[in-house]
Amino acid sequence: MTVEEACFCGWVGDLASKRRLYLGDGQWGLVCPRCGRPDNLSWLPAARRQEVIARALDAAPPAQE
Ligand SMILES: [Zn+2]
Repeated sequence: MTVEEACFCGWVGDLASKRRLYLGDGQWGLVCPRCGRPDNLSWLPAARRQEVIARALDAAPPAQE
């Protein structure tokens, strides 16, 4: 099952191609691969949210110099 997802920046794609990011406070979300806008998936039922997060790849950590 794929979920088509659109972002304010104009990116449209499969929810599965987003990366997960820890938002703090025990919350995980997915970030847009184009603009990096985080989405806490509050619009998804909790069970579905966990499944999506579990499948998502980790976002690249911020570059540290
Ligand atoms: Zn975006």
